[in-house]
Amino acid sequence: MSQIVIQKSKMKYYSLNHNAPKVSFREAVIQGLAPDKGLYFPEKITALPSSFFENIENKSNEEIAFEAIKQFVGDDIPESNLKEIIAETLCFDFPTVKVETSIYALELYHGPTMAFKDVGARFMSRCLAYFNKDDNNSKNTVLVATSGDTGGAVASGFLGVDGVEVVILYPSGKVSDIQERQLTTLGQNIRAVEVDGVFDDCQDMVKKAFLDQSLSHKNLTSANSINIARWLPQMFYFFFAYKQLKSQQKPLVFSCPSGNFGNICAGIMAKRLGLPIEHFVAATNVNDTVPQFLATGTYTPKPSKATISNAMDVGNPSNFIRIQELYHNDLAEFNKDFSSYSYTDEKTSETLANIYKTTGYIAEPHGVVGYLGLKKEMDRFPNAIGVFLETAHPIKFLDTVEPVLQITLPIPPQIESVLNKGKVKVKIKTYEELKAFLIS
Ligand SMILES: *Cc1c(COP(=O)(O)O)cnc(C)c1O
Repeated sequence: MSQIVIQKSKMKYYSLNHNAPKVSFREAVIQGLAPDKGLYFPEKITALPSSFFENIENKSNEEIAFEAIKQFVGDDIPESNLKEIIAETLCFDFPTVKVETSIYALELYHGPTMAFKDVGARFMSRCLAYFNKDDNNSKNTVLVATSGDTGGAVASGFLGVDGVEVVILYPSGKVSDIQERQLTTLGQNIRAVEVDGVFDDCQDMVKKAFLDQSLSHKNLTSANSINIARWLPQMFYFFFAYKQLKSQQKPLVFSCPSGNFGNICAGIMAKRLGLPIEHFVAATNVNDTVPQFLATGTYTPKPSKATISNAMDVGNPSNFIRIQELYHNDLAEFNKDFSSYSYTDEKTSETLANIYKTTGYIAEPHGVVGYLGLKKEMDRFPNAIGVFLETAHPIKFLDTVEPVLQITLPIPPQIESVLNKGKVKVKIKTYEELKAFLIS
């Protein structure tokens, strides 16, 4: 008797270190990083049909997101559950706001913690919850180090999610009061650990914990953009921007303020799915490893330098290896649709003030770095519309924004709600203390 084999759609992911087995979406999300320490990358990227883009203005954000991510999830999550996850992820707006002629801000900060990382954190947490739901014994611990924004988005995104414990490490005295409250006031399955040290100390402890065999029963995973479930949903808002600007019938140039380069890498993925994007700009602060790579052809990671756009203080961007894969590590291919420029704090503050003075738009340091990169590139694309990503609400960087603009920002309700809650955290100094805390 002949057997009928039903070929199910199963997207596989390979490790960019090429020394680990291929895995499905589910395993890649649960593991975070491959066993050979490489980042996972999809084996195949299939462009969406042109009819999808012809009708995009008639589709809801949820429908667009579903079509964009479906092939990457394969049948690891049934369609109806995936649609539910997307609906819960996209619970806020993604407006494109005109700042000046041909220049728009894509505001990604209308979510619960007012940073774009809400999208990835909400999507990832719900994928993990789905994978855990039929297995009462399987619990995951998400362990993250934060210099500010990631922690808040992860805390809020994972709050109350079944089967997932979250432990967030942050450097004592190095995050703002608002950021600290976003990490320490939620309770439930979220625990905050204040580390007597700097961000790099937190990061080192997290890395050590991932390698520690005696913690293997905790099923530790990461929730930064190395995890495909945090990275890939960041494609969505490039589609949403296109949907809003399509009727102007002009080429689009996107500029992303970049730190770990997850956001811009997701934008390039959107283009590979067929989204008509003319050009990408990866704008950085003085942590200029990637601009230097494009200028010289050599990639030289450096220790990070502190700046006013501190969510981008990264000297060795973790997602750049994925971008190199997408461009076959070929400078000529990069140069076709990718540029990268670096800006100082001085230039950033001056431009923050200037944008406000000439247009009335209140930006914040990360968005301004994006704006600067965009303005530079627009000379080459005089007929295009330029879009810079506004990655956080100005209130999250009020220590910079208020004195530079000489204004007082009203406090949005999302922030107000954490201001009066008490901070709950444990203080630690050493890795041994972290370990004892994780086991307790
Ligand atoms: C994380 C972050 C960035 C950098 O995004 P990457 O994907 O790491 O390049 C930019 N701005 C803000 C406000 C952030 O929190």
